[in-house]
Amino acid sequence: MTKQKALLIIKPDGVARGLCGAILKRFEQVGLTIIGLKFGMADEKTVVAHYPETDVWFEKVGQRTLTNYAEKSLDTKGIFKTDNAVEIGKTVKKWLIDYFQESPVLCVVVEGYNVIEIVRKLSGNTIPLLATPGTIRGDFSHDTIDLANEQNRPLRNIIHASDTVEDGEKEVRLWFKPEELFSYVRTDEKIMFKK
Ligand code: GDP
Repeated sequence: MTKQKALLIIKPDGVARGLCGAILKRFEQVGLTIIGLKFGMADEKTVVAHYPETDVWFEKVGQRTLTNYAEKSLDTKGIFKTDNAVEIGKTVKKWLIDYFQESPVLCVVVEGYNVIEIVRKLSGNTIPLLATPGTIRGDFSHDTIDLANEQNRPLRNIIHASDTVEDGEKEVRLWFKPEELFSYVRTDEKIMFKK
């Protein structure tokens, strides 16, 4: 087995609420190695490139709203003027571009075995109201899709975590230069993974 990398971004709401330390602690205590750390304002081009400009991604995001609205018998046309998943996804992406530039973000690269499963598990469901207690989104937020859409903004769910190994590699390359990543061995690794 080889180690893999994932990108985490503590989004503007997480930083502004003073949650960086509490969030980083969870990734450190589970045993992941922090190999890159960067604090600052995100630039628009990077955010645009971060979220895919593909119908597959727009559809995934739009479908989340459609499913949620169907469960509550709500109509998307009031807010989005459409019930087309791709079009809804495009609107959410525009909101994300503004949200990410609202105030500073903390970008983190973590490395470890099964890193994607771990970062997604610790982050929790995309919709904070549905995120299990014990997860970052479940513990620090209870935002909902209908409230976010009504306010013309993305779900304020504190953290981004890479969703696949391929996305992790792509996102790390987008946000970090090779020389901004470091290689070292955590002292507890010998005990956690005894050879
Ligand atoms: P993630 O990987 O869990 O962050 O989820 P996605 O990649 O599917 O979505 C990207 C981000 O868009 C989420 O983290 C939310 O901030 C936002 N978002 C996703 N779906 C919706 C939605 O249906 N409505 C709103 N307002 N925001 C959404």
